[in-house]
Amino acid sequence: GDIRPNQMLTEGYVATLVKKRGNSDHKGTFGHALLVAGSFGKMGAAVIAARAVLRAGAGLVTCHVPRSGYEIMQISFPEAMCTVDAHWYQTTGVGDLSQYATIGIGPGLGTEQLTAAALRDVLTRYAKPLVIDADALNLIAQSPSLFALIPKGSILTPHPKEFERLFGKTADSFARWRVQGEAAKRNELVILLKTNHTTIATPTGKIYVNTTGNPGMGTAGTGDALTGILTGLLAQGYEPATAATLGVYLHGLAGDLAAEALSQEFLLAEDVVNHVGAAYQELA
Ligand code: AMP
Ligand code: MG
Repeated sequence: GDIRPNQMLTEGYVATLVKKRGNSDHKGTFGHALLVAGSFGKMGAAVIAARAVLRAGAGLVTCHVPRSGYEIMQISFPEAMCTVDAHWYQTTGVGDLSQYATIGIGPGLGTEQLTAAALRDVLTRYAKPLVIDADALNLIAQSPSLFALIPKGSILTPHPKEFERLFGKTADSFARWRVQGEAAKRNELVILLKTNHTTIATPTGKIYVNTTGNPGMGTAGTGDALTGILTGLLAQGYEPATAATLGVYLHGLAGDLAAEALSQEFLLAEDVVNHVGAAYQELA
């Protein structure tokens, strides 16, 4: 088969994806997301992702965190609500999921066995598309039986190392795109491969190539910001393929505007999140 990137993301195209808000819309309209992220020593990933969920426009975010992360989250980001795990240092079990429009899972989660069990439980009980990143992807790579539990339409966001752990070694980028595209089609998932030209493979066989972003984004936490943005877009009711293309483009554009204002060297993940607003304005 001839699987290779077949659609470059342009600003004109991406701008048509943004939904206009109605005057009577309210936080219920924009969706309540659950974020399952963070562990002892890695609470920053959860804080960055949580901020990005609301900066992308979700109405509400609840973060499920280990006990040691509770005050960190509430003080760092008062706009987020929390549910607290029974365990001090890692997530071992998430409660009721029925109220959430979507879930983002993985940033800073760690790869302990108790956390793998919590991930299995979430994937078993939740049927709508969710965003799966970072240690959640690593846990799935460790326990391949988890892969079949992923709800259809979910967005997977591996960087090249995580991609290799999930799908094995590939000879070159053509082989990688083939694996990415076939896995997305076969499993009805949206699968990203995060690089300097991130590709987005959809269940219908399209592979989009992102055109925004810069080397300033090679800094801790920018991937966690992307997970938050994608989760925030799913919460607002965007279809998974639309959430993925819009989200990846917005994230890179926010990085470009942040680098323009601050320099690539200076950039923090937080600056990327703080420029999502300017990125939305550029698309308006
Ligand atoms: P992670 O490796 O999970 O922290 O994700 C890093 C994020 O930053 C991904 O969304 C990458 O696409 C983005 N990124 C890193 N380096 C670059 C680059 N040189 N150009 C564009 N985007 C980048
Ligand atoms: Mg990452």
